[in-house]
Amino acid sequence: MRLRQLSPLCMPVKDNRAGVGRGLHGITASNSNTRISATRIPNRVATAPLATSFGSENLGLNSDRMRATMVERLHSQGITNEQVLAAMQVIPRHAFVDEALASRAYDDASLPIGHGQTISQPWVVARMIASVCSATMPSRVLEVGTGCGYQAAVMSHVFPQVHSIERIRALYDMAKERLRTLRLTKVRLVHGDGMLGLPTVAPFDAIVVAAAGIRIPQALLLQLNVGGVLIAPEGSSAQRLVRVTRTGASSWDRQELEEVRFVPLKAGLQV
Ligand code: SAH
Repeated sequence: MRLRQLSPLCMPVKDNRAGVGRGLHGITASNSNTRISATRIPNRVATAPLATSFGSENLGLNSDRMRATMVERLHSQGITNEQVLAAMQVIPRHAFVDEALASRAYDDASLPIGHGQTISQPWVVARMIASVCSATMPSRVLEVGTGCGYQAAVMSHVFPQVHSIERIRALYDMAKERLRTLRLTKVRLVHGDGMLGLPTVAPFDAIVVAAAGIRIPQALLLQLNVGGVLIAPEGSSAQRLVRVTRTGASSWDRQELEEVRFVPLKAGLQV
């Protein structure tokens, strides 16, 4: 389908949702960035204290084993992309959340990361990254909404060049520090308004948007290479993942995927 008339500016989702963590339409920092699904899959993985491993010495977690369980669950939830699963086996998700939440880092859930934002549910991260992988693997990829940096870290194991933009200064700083500590310095982080994309680096082979706008910003669609793919949640109270492929200079194909619930995409910076 050819996208009809694109408005020059995408409207941000109503600001009265910004009420950090409380939210309109029941969107909170602990239930957003998830799939809305009728089938409930057990939330917790075995969390018995086991031998220590990478970065989890104080937690008594065997994070390798917990990650393996998470990856098996993702596979059973329909994620088959081997590179994405391998990346999620390697990246320590618990290192991207507050220590108090680390034991829940491998649950099938999003978790609060402060400032009213969330780390996306593992399934959402896997689904979004896998959705932009096609026959030709994307090389230069943009993420809008770095948050804690987890999805960017996973993407850096899958794609050669990853850029990620975050509008909240404190989260940008935190993600930078985390990625530095984990020696994932390949990810290029920017403190900026991702609704404008990254014109100085564009065009991108893929764009992954981790926050929901009423419409996908036109600037992002225009920063896709022809053949490039963008995935984003779209909508306000009812949201859906949407995959858009640029098919020509002024044509895009649009495909609607699962129902989801994400934090809002907002214009401007929070310093
Ligand atoms: N990528 C994350 C999910 C982050 S939550 C993960 O690893 O799980 C979504 C993030 O998008 C929030 O941190 C929010 O501040 C950010 N965001 C919302 N609107 C934005 C915009 N216009 N530009 C950049 N970041 C934005």
